[in-house]
Amino acid sequence: MSRGKKPKWMIDIANERMNILFKNAEEQFLTHPERSHRYVEMALKLSTKYNTKIPEVWSRRYCKNCNKFLYYGHNSSVRLINEKVNIFCEECGHVMKIPYQREKKEKRRAKYESREKRTDE
Ligand SMILES: [Zn+2]
Repeated sequence: MSRGKKPKWMIDIANERMNILFKNAEEQFLTHPERSHRYVEMALKLSTKYNTKIPEVWSRRYCKNCNKFLYYGHNSSVRLINEKVNIFCEECGHVMKIPYQREKKEKRRAKYESREKRTDE
């Protein structure tokens, strides 16, 4: 189905639409949760169709397992465990683990150590 890269303007439009869908999902969750889940589905379809990612701000707001919209404190909870952000989906019981600021520290350290190795007598 996917036929290579889409032009940038198309991806921009897709991103904007996904943002709108997720915003709607958030706004309507408390009154119409089933609509929110549908918005997520629509956003995911756009994401596949245009071969582009869900905008980062929203990528943690839906369950990667059941694709339901997650509203913290209502159908999901977030905890920090072992330096990982655990997002628990109460719809299906799935837990998403997201590393919490790990890469920065390691990169800096690797750089530092490679400098130290230089042998100057
Ligand atoms: Zn789920």
